[in-house]
Amino acid sequence: MNSPNLLASLNDAQRAAVSAPPGNSLVLAGAGSGKTRVLVHRIAYLLEAGASPYDIMAVTFTNKAAREMRSRIETLLGLPLNLLWMGTFHGIAHRLLRIHWEQARLPQNFQILDGDDQLRMVRRVIRSLNVDEQRFTPRQATSFINAAKDEGKRPKHLDPVGPVDKTFRDLYVGYEAACQQAGAVDFAELLLRSHELWLERADILAHYRNRFRHLLVDEFQDTNGVQYAWLKLLAGSTGQMMAVGDDDQSIYGWRGAKIENILRFEKDFAPVVVYRLEQNYRSTGNILQAANAVIEHNAGRLGKELWTETGAGDPLLIYAAYNELDEARFIADRAHDWIERGGSASEVAVLYRSNAQSRVLEEAFLRRNIPYRIYGGMRFFERAEIRDALAYLRLAIQPGSDAAFERVVNTPPRGIGDKTIERLREFARAQSITMWEALNSALLTGAFTGRSATALANFAQHVALLTQVIDGMSLQDAMQTVLEHSRLEAHHGKEAGERGIAKVENLRELVTAARQFTPELRFPIAPDGAEQPPQSPREVIEDFLAHAALEAGEGQAESHAACVQLMTLHSAKGLEFPLVFLAGMDEGVFPHRMSDLEPNRLEEERRLCYVGITRAMRQLYLCHAEVRRLNGIEQRSMPSRFIREIPKELISEIRLRGAVVRPAATRQDQRSFGGQRGGAQIPSRMFRDEEDAPLRIGQRVRHASFGEGVVLGCEGHGERAHVHINFETAGEKRLILGMARLESVE
Ligand code: ATP
Ligand code: MG
Repeated sequence: MNSPNLLASLNDAQRAAVSAPPGNSLVLAGAGSGKTRVLVHRIAYLLEAGASPYDIMAVTFTNKAAREMRSRIETLLGLPLNLLWMGTFHGIAHRLLRIHWEQARLPQNFQILDGDDQLRMVRRVIRSLNVDEQRFTPRQATSFINAAKDEGKRPKHLDPVGPVDKTFRDLYVGYEAACQQAGAVDFAELLLRSHELWLERADILAHYRNRFRHLLVDEFQDTNGVQYAWLKLLAGSTGQMMAVGDDDQSIYGWRGAKIENILRFEKDFAPVVVYRLEQNYRSTGNILQAANAVIEHNAGRLGKELWTETGAGDPLLIYAAYNELDEARFIADRAHDWIERGGSASEVAVLYRSNAQSRVLEEAFLRRNIPYRIYGGMRFFERAEIRDALAYLRLAIQPGSDAAFERVVNTPPRGIGDKTIERLREFARAQSITMWEALNSALLTGAFTGRSATALANFAQHVALLTQVIDGMSLQDAMQTVLEHSRLEAHHGKEAGERGIAKVENLRELVTAARQFTPELRFPIAPDGAEQPPQSPREVIEDFLAHAALEAGEGQAESHAACVQLMTLHSAKGLEFPLVFLAGMDEGVFPHRMSDLEPNRLEEERRLCYVGITRAMRQLYLCHAEVRRLNGIEQRSMPSRFIREIPKELISEIRLRGAVVRPAATRQDQRSFGGQRGGAQIPSRMFRDEEDAPLRIGQRVRHASFGEGVVLGCEGHGERAHVHINFETAGEKRLILGMARLESVE
């Protein structure tokens, strides 16, 4: 008997989906309509209807989402759910490979290469194959390899046309060999390898098919080729799958996600019952209308309209900042007001297109003394100091890890130069041994002399000692010991000012993270049904290192303090906040200038904008800057086309003192200046003082023949001044102020 509140808190469409009869189903619905809520309730519903947690696998988009879901279901039902497999595709595939490492032809202690490790590994392969690194950059080669893997393809499945493709394929071959030798697995490999495991081992596949009767997948629109194939294989003809998604929120096409998978699903998993949810519970009417209006500009949608019972709410607010500093200051001020008025910092999110935008925002929040947290930016487990410390921990339990070896052999600096390392590398390559083995063998044979020999010997001794000391220690003690012995705190703490302090704090936070870490039960129940002993301390350390690599794609160590959330639009997927700022709504920033290159990319940018707008519950600010310095380049730009796609009546523009046009002229001349015989005064102090300049950089003006544009600059004084204007359709022009007859359009 289902507890009444399980279904009572749902609308009819949601209730139908949650209590769907056995079979495959697809919940296809727009943002904020309760898709994730349906998934959570469905799991609880199945459990109450007699399913065992052991029968269920649920795939979420982030580890954080998995944790949240788990705890929501535990609260709904009041029972712990250890046996339920819930996590990201990567997390679940990793769990499988840890159990079946042998059958998957991996060493038991295989390690995960995160993005950075992978890039280094690819670089080494490029060099070892004597490929021109300028023509075939590590980044390009890495994307080539990942794209192939995301499609489920090994080198043998590729059919290169021309020498360029062939070189990339050779690099892929070399990279695979290097990974296999190092016992390392990158993210894409986790999926591919576990897919192949099932293909090759019918008995293992049968076991999991038999086990996972219920498969639930959130954010289905962002599955890639191999993920889809993996699900299909697992479901077979017995599994029942509930896929939940929104074609309008597919934003990972650039990483191989396939929006078509939603359409394929209906065919491949037929018969599929489709549930549509149309009521939005998240946002005000204005926010929802704006989102609907923007996404309508995309062609080829499956088409959905969302409505809400909530009133229209406040209008969307637009702020035209002068530059990115002004934008950041404005956002911090408004966030401050929100908190002053009794709101919590954690209700506020600032979303941006690229990570590089976060630095200026961070500084504004620091200055305003507002607690903030970057989610998905420079992530905790990706920070250099954290990776250094983890590399030491890795070396201590597995000195043969080349990735870890290379990372810290000279960090902190101990006088081991690049040349020495290169010689070691070559030696290792020639002998097909690890760097660690190469080092010990070189020390024995006296291959190095002088200072480098001493430095290498010290390093070898240091690692051997660490291995000995932490043997049998708990994870937390081992982490603490590694920090003490590695001298990393002193090394990173040397960095000037805040940065040094922050790095030391992060290293200490790592010990906390180690203390709080609870390993997944590796083999809750083994395939043969036997109970397994708990993990050894060493296995816990391995799990922690794997966890760090998997989490590197996500967030900082959980912080419980109320903080404003700063994150990219991509990482905001699935989340919601009462107050949202979309920063950097400039053409070229968002939509990203890369999207000019391919028409599909612009649609993907627009979906990203839809995701951004629909994160907001009560209030949404759209900010753009007329001049922006980003990645070291200063550019002037027009407001994003996405702003123009929002109906005017939903928007209110914000004018601040000092940013308003305030002509020195009399009131009746206020709307035009220049070129009027005996009319408006021509300014003599152009732009020096925003308060009384009649034209300011970034101001919108209209010209009789060129139409509307934005003032980019001005040289000279008075009537003869040259104004530089970027017209929307006519492009950039330089005009003489006295002749131009410009009109303000603000
Ligand atoms: P997204 O597409 O952004 O992932 P979603 O469709 O998964 O959104 P949810 O996050 O599940 O939507 O729900 C959005 C918000 O609406 C949540 O705060 C949720 O609790 C609330 N909500 C959903 N359905 C109901 C309902 N029937 N009654 C009350 N609140 C609801
Ligand atoms: Mg959701």
